[in-house]
Amino acid sequence: MSLGPSEFVKSLDLPKSPGGRIGVDEWLRVPAVEDVFALGDCAGFLEKVGSPVLPALAQ
Ligand SMILES: Cc1cc2nc3c(=O)[nH]c(=O)nc-3n(C[C@H](O)[C@H](O)[C@H](O)COP(=O)(O)OP(=O)(O)OC[C@H]3O[C@@H](n4cnc5c(N)ncnc54)[C@H](O)[C@@H]3O)c2cc1C
Repeated sequence: MSLGPSEFVKSLDLPKSPGGRIGVDEWLRVPAVEDVFALGDCAGFLEKVGSPVLPALAQ
């Protein structure tokens, strides 16, 4: 089962990772917006980072 990104995340006009999470760089910055970071289930690495999107786990 996959829950996928929330409607809120889907509604954000930001570059997304493969799978539709908020796209972040290797420092969890949202490169499209200054001083904005995203982490946890809502965030995923942008394709250009070259790292796989991490599994949605709390540990
Ligand atoms: C059934 C199930 C079982 C799981 N079992 C495990 C497990 O055994 N081990 C493990 O490591 N992980 C497990 N996970 C995954 C783990 O729960 C998540 O990876 C973790 O909770 C993600 O934390 P988060 O803070 O990123 O997001 P969340 O815990 O989802 O927190 C997001 C918060 O934002 C709030 N929110 C959403 N939209 C808005 C809004 N518009 N305004 C204000 N607040 C908002 C939500 O209400 C929520 O409180 C499980 C997940 C599920 C669904």
